Amino acid sequence: MRAVMALSGGMDSTGLLIRLLADGYKVSCISYEYGQKHNVELERACANIKYLEENGFEVEHRIVDLSSAMSIFHSALTSEDIEIPEGHYEEEQMKATVVPNRNAIFASIVYGYALSVAIRENIDVVIALGVHSGDHAIYPDCRPEFYDSLGEAFAIGNWDSEKVSFHLPYIDGDKESILRDSLISCKKLKLDFNNVFSNTITSYNPDEQGRSSGTSGADVERILAFHAIGRKDPVEYITSWETVLEGALKSQLRHYVMKKNGTERPFTGEYDKHYENGKYHCADCDKVLFTSEDKFDSGCGWPAFSSEESQANITQVKDVTHGMVRIEVRCSECDSHLGHLFHEYSGPRYCINSICLDFKGE
Ligand SMILES: [Zn+2]
Repeated sequence: MRAVMALSGGMDSTGLLIRLLADGYKVSCISYEYGQKHNVELERACANIKYLEENGFEVEHRIVDLSSAMSIFHSALTSEDIEIPEGHYEEEQMKATVVPNRNAIFASIVYGYALSVAIRENIDVVIALGVHSGDHAIYPDCRPEFYDSLGEAFAIGNWDSEKVSFHLPYIDGDKESILRDSLISCKKLKLDFNNVFSNTITSYNPDEQGRSSGTSGADVERILAFHAIGRKDPVEYITSWETVLEGALKSQLRHYVMKKNGTERPFTGEYDKHYENGKYHCADCDKVLFTSEDKFDSGCGWPAFSSEESQANITQVKDVTHGMVRIEVRCSECDSHLGHLFHEYSGPRYCINSICLDFKGE
């Protein structure tokens, strides 16, 4: 059993590599140098190859330099003058981190390499891809139909293409299931899970010592995946694990409330009993929404305001979910869900989720 794969140094491809070894494949890996800001990922990939070697697993590993070709592409991952966005994965925001046509280019090279191995060793070769459904919404070149079409095109364009096929063991999974699978693979191969994953990096913008900020969209997904399997991420972050986990959970809650019209649990929000003087901004777009002058204690468990800031222009939408007729309120600037507006005998009450607000004191 022969496999060829791209090892990025991230957690998905690392999980895939040990899974292939656990399944009994002889594996050849390619890592790409393409001018990425997170170049430390190549060092981590090499460290894991070395670790595997020390434990008796021989893996062929080649680093392919594409930095010249890809320097002409526009992306926050490779261009010094474009900043990498922070926060939970959000389609518009994360488009900046797409390198145009990257996966098609990588797949072409892997295909050529796999075909070369197949011809050289006269053996059938699988191209293993760590693609998973968690990626789809964000990156169109992670979609299975894209790889199906590419596979067809490559097969049409090459002799001996019947020797090469695609293998996508994680296609129905997500980052959490990859980690769970990796626990099983590590146990089977007698490898140390923490050692393997300390030799990975997910952050797009690590500091000079290679430490992750823990705040980029990719970081947040990773942190939540480790949290979901009940383990501490062995990778080094700039701040403590407790701090990055708290931030990731906050980011997840913010996404759920503001983008999925969710509601935070009552009496849990940061601003429920908060009465300093200042302004409350939209946590997503920073528009001023409320001021401390209009804030009062409604006793309902969420921050309450009797009025909105004069320029806020908050959007009101009729909401008939949960068997009630209510007025939903949304940010007029970024259209994020904020909470509800109730008209009571004492006057209006804006009932707002704390997580949607950023307080700035006077
Ligand atoms: Zn907003």
